[in-house]
Amino acid sequence: MGRSKQRKEQFKREHPNCYFCGHAADTVDHVPSRECFKYKVGPEGYDFPACAKCNNSAGRLEQSVALYLHMTDLSAKTLSPQYIKLLKGVRNNNIDNLPTKVARPGQMRRALRSLGLQEFIGKEVADFELVKIPKTQHEDFEKFTRRLMCALYYKHMGTILPAENYIHTMYTSAANQRAMPLIEYAARNLPNVVKTSRKNTDIGDQFVYFWRGNPDSNLFIFVGTIANAILFAGTTWGAGTKNYTDRGTQHSVDLQ
Ligand SMILES: [Zn+2]
Repeated sequence: MGRSKQRKEQFKREHPNCYFCGHAADTVDHVPSRECFKYKVGPEGYDFPACAKCNNSAGRLEQSVALYLHMTDLSAKTLSPQYIKLLKGVRNNNIDNLPTKVARPGQMRRALRSLGLQEFIGKEVADFELVKIPKTQHEDFEKFTRRLMCALYYKHMGTILPAENYIHTMYTSAANQRAMPLIEYAARNLPNVVKTSRKNTDIGDQFVYFWRGNPDSNLFIFVGTIANAILFAGTTWGAGTKNYTDRGTQHSVDLQ
């Protein structure tokens, strides 16, 4: 047996069940998906066991979240072939999720304010190119963040997130003024910081997150950024934890 095959067999033995639903796993899923990273080169150690159903059902939503990640990456100067491919993919599979341009001055002013760019309000707002995220895309962001929660829980707690656990998620543009308090909260309260990486390849700070977990209450919290573009945050807690239940949705809903 070749070394790569041996590694795969060992991975299967160590991870027999799907990180998302708990059924027998027969595939390996990358979370966040490779599409989220430049040249599709992501960090090591983010391969998760998945059943074919959970793995396949993620493809469409990963594609449209990746499109927004690349679109929001302010360091990119030109449209990369990867971005153009994602754009075509979303247009073919998911046309309702394409961004719409913000054109009305009132809408533009509100958007600039929410990004903390008050100083530009009153200037020539037509100079800005802003896009609005459609509602269907918000649903995909929510699903994407819940999957990310399950993957990080599996990785750091060493067990599958229980179906009866509640999950509450948040995401926002990293440039949005809502992002800063979350990052400050994370730096103060979440003791573990992970700057993901890859051997022999510098992937920069494309995926960095803070986390904390408590196995007694199945509590897990993370706050992180992907592609320096979007901040994702999630909290999950066991069904026995009081006072929170109205704010989250049980993981069992994802499995229906
Ligand atoms: Zn599954």
